[in-house]
Amino acid sequence: MHTQPTDADVLIVGYGPVGQVLALQLAGRGWRVTVVERWRTGYPMPRAVAFDSEGARILAAAGIGARIGEIGEPSGDYTWENAAGQALLHIDVAERGRCGWPESTSMYQPALEAALVAQGAGLPELTVIRGEEAVAITDHGDRVDVTSHAPDGSRRVHSARWVVGCDGANSFVRRAIGTAMTDLGFSHDWLICDVVLHEERVFRPNNLQICDPHRPRTSVSAGPGHRRWEFMRAAGETVEELNTEESAWRLLKLFDVHPGNATLERFHVYSFAAKYAETWRSGRLLLAGDACHVMPPFAGQGMTAGFRDVTNLSWKLDAVLRGTAGEELLDSYPVERRPHAKHAIHMSVNLGRIICQTDPKAAADRDMVMLAAAERPVPAAAAQQRSPLQPLSGGLLDLGGKGRPVRPAGVLVPQGRVAAGERAGWFDEVVGEGFVLLSAEDAVAGLSEADREFLRRLGTRLVRVLAQGTDPRTAGEGEVVDTDGVYLPFLAETGSTAVLVRPDYYAFGGAADRAGLSRLVDGLRTGLGAPAVPSAV
Ligand SMILES: Cc1cc2nc3c(=O)[nH]c(=O)nc-3n(C[C@H](O)[C@H](O)[C@H](O)COP(=O)(O)OP(=O)(O)OC[C@H]3O[C@@H](n4cnc5c(N)ncnc54)[C@H](O)[C@@H]3O)c2cc1C
Repeated sequence: MHTQPTDADVLIVGYGPVGQVLALQLAGRGWRVTVVERWRTGYPMPRAVAFDSEGARILAAAGIGARIGEIGEPSGDYTWENAAGQALLHIDVAERGRCGWPESTSMYQPALEAALVAQGAGLPELTVIRGEEAVAITDHGDRVDVTSHAPDGSRRVHSARWVVGCDGANSFVRRAIGTAMTDLGFSHDWLICDVVLHEERVFRPNNLQICDPHRPRTSVSAGPGHRRWEFMRAAGETVEELNTEESAWRLLKLFDVHPGNATLERFHVYSFAAKYAETWRSGRLLLAGDACHVMPPFAGQGMTAGFRDVTNLSWKLDAVLRGTAGEELLDSYPVERRPHAKHAIHMSVNLGRIICQTDPKAAADRDMVMLAAAERPVPAAAAQQRSPLQPLSGGLLDLGGKGRPVRPAGVLVPQGRVAAGERAGWFDEVVGEGFVLLSAEDAVAGLSEADREFLRRLGTRLVRVLAQGTDPRTAGEGEVVDTDGVYLPFLAETGSTAVLVRPDYYAFGGAADRAGLSRLVDGLRTGLGAPAVPSAV
């Protein structure tokens, strides 16, 4: 197909955290990326205060791993108390989560965004246009034209092969797609207070939820040197009454925080909502982040869900642009991500319904049940159901007869430290990003030349894992030592001798033997679809 030249391979509308990560992922792979962002400068105040282990892995891959220690700190513990101060729930947040990084990192969002923006400034393929608002979009079938509007009234048209709306909860791109929204009907107003204490103070627990029906409230770390307090609007109180500096200080006093020992960086009443878009792709338009899902912050998942979206989307866009996959691969993006995001929304709403209980009788019943449950260990299946780390339930995976993933297909592959020769560190650093064929033996030996060539074209790294304790100096080409003992147990536990891992760290599938591996490679080839002829740019 003959196509018109474009200014960019991908145009991103919105340079919030999700647009920033997507820009790094795509420009880092060499694609010409243009970002159109409405505001001249970044938003200086935090919204999110935490990301999980998978979020940290994604940020590290985007190039800011070395900065995470200064932007954030391990979240530590998290306790829910009732109005009487009894512990309803206590979670010791693990220092090492599934992706190697802490299970949760508390962070200061302006510092995170500054690090992402600085990383982007070093990428020659990335052009960020600030102070212009996207106001019109036309999908021509082979390209998309986006019109932006500058404050001086001038307009210009940017042409790109694909457009991704990372433009937040009131997304313009979403309106252009014209999708229906599903609204879970959850709506509560909370006063958010971001505070810097004049002197360091140790909080035990570090993160506290007080389930007091008269005023549910929250005290959490917001990254090194920062704290966040949140207060729900009480019955009979208006948003205007709550949204004042006087209210903020009056409520902060409950935590011994006052103008004498703290600076109130900002206060603002947010209305928490739970919604998601039904359509995430229409032609060459795609949505990611808050543009296609919003959720109350009780599970700390809104931004991280957006990071998962773009990590899923960016390798697919890369494959389509490169011509190693057909455009229909992009349809697997909503198929995979929407159920995942819906799970995070429902999880957040379920937590919110417990926390935001203002009926004293219902709160007393809740306390009784939770106090009794706190005595009992949580069954593994229930704990997994409550975790934000969910396997993919469909999409580009090794699917069985009933269309369900065949384990380990869809599972987030854990990350541990590995070593090879003189190199040691996290798997992603030592091995690199992209498709990985992870195996306990020489998996390639059993593959046909055509299969090998196919994997080579995808840039697949063939990695044979050597047992923990092996001298890394004995590791040959393509071999790594399983320093933390993560990979061989993972292969064994999933009954695989080899696992084909996608660039977003989810398993495409596993094989128990050579015949199984050939079948797996064939499934991936079919799933990627007919390679497109790369169009002229
Ligand atoms: C109080 C609170 C606490 C939270 N806590 C957490 C937490 O702990 N962990 C977590 O993961 N998430 C949390 N969240 C959610 C998180 O803040 C959001 O999910 C995240 O900021 C969304 O990022 P985004 O990039 O998708 O959208 P945004 O941050 O909204 O960025 C969208 C960008 O698009 C730009 N834009 C919009 N329209 C246009 C246009 N037409 N043209 C050009 N530019 C445009 C905007 O100016 C903006 O810069 C919290 C949210 C709140 C409110």
